Amino acid sequence: METYDIRSMTLEEIEALMVTLGEPKFRAKQIYEWLHKKLVQSLDEMTNIPLALREKIKQEVGFAAVEEETKSVSKIDGTTKFLFKLQDGSMVESVLMKYKHGNSVCISSQVGCRMGCRFCASTIGGLTRNLLPSEMLGQIYYIQKSTQERVSNVVLMGTGEPFDNYDNFFRMLHLLTNPQGLNISQRNITVSTCGIVPKIKELAKEHLQITLAISLHSPTDEMRKELMPIANRYSIDEIMEACEDYFNETKRRITFEYSLVAGVNDKPEHATILANRLKQLNCHVNLIPVNPIEERDFRQPEQESIQNFRKMLEKNRINATIRREMGRDIQGACGQLRKNYQKNIQQTK
Ligand code: SAH
Repeated sequence: METYDIRSMTLEEIEALMVTLGEPKFRAKQIYEWLHKKLVQSLDEMTNIPLALREKIKQEVGFAAVEEETKSVSKIDGTTKFLFKLQDGSMVESVLMKYKHGNSVCISSQVGCRMGCRFCASTIGGLTRNLLPSEMLGQIYYIQKSTQERVSNVVLMGTGEPFDNYDNFFRMLHLLTNPQGLNISQRNITVSTCGIVPKIKELAKEHLQITLAISLHSPTDEMRKELMPIANRYSIDEIMEACEDYFNETKRRITFEYSLVAGVNDKPEHATILANRLKQLNCHVNLIPVNPIEERDFRQPEQESIQNFRKMLEKNRINATIRREMGRDIQGACGQLRKNYQKNIQQTK
């Protein structure tokens, strides 16, 4: 079993820890509040916790810190991109997006990724390691604390495949939605997956109200295999069945993400096949013009093709929106900030 640091522990686990350390139980509540309400960045900020106890916690379970390495603010829309350094020197990125309905934070769930999607920058160096629950929360907490902007929405769409780190993702959800912590509403949380079928089914059984987003990107298995290696493992039929399951158990509308790549998956007939596959399901399609990355020559379709694709879906009664690009001037595309940082480090070595 994974060993958890203090910020990854539930209140009950901290209570049990206090008992083992020979401390009064009420300390647990105080500690939990410092961590998940006051959003401290280190144990030393817990001023009403005796120094000796803070030292014991450091020795017994530790505190997995998440520190700001760089931050860039978009002059266009205020989108802010953070690069965070973890205790082992690993880097992860997160984004704060400001919308009329509130602030949304996009977080990473792993250092790197092993899913290998062809268009994605985050997967190029493979997977380094899973993030701890506290390292996922730490991104959100730091952003809320340092910007003084209340975070109301959380999306797991940064680097990593959340369902490849399912247990830590699930524990993080528990802590994030806890009334004794930040208390984010389940309805304001979205988890995005490349389609790990058994985990979709597992999550369905939990009857949560979080939004499930599936990175589909193709209307056929054949085309999907060209873009996403995970398609060799699970077919679109299997994904659809798991999504039906999720809908039946939760009554939550499913989101399908579809990155439009010029000359690959953007033809009107692709939209028709897609619409046919999705029509049984209560769902919504989010079209994302692909963010070109240096390592591949994938291009965005012309505006006209993007609009036509959407119209074709709507004509077939599938709800579709085109994702507005945020923070264009601050390296918008997924995983690019972290990758460029690594490249610069290597060049200066
Ligand atoms: N592993 C998860 C979440 C991470 S990525 C998943 O696959 O869903 C979040 C979304 O961005 C996914 O839909 C992913 O396919 C998409 N994405 C990654 N790189 C992209 C790029 N260069 N352009 C457009 N979308 C991209």
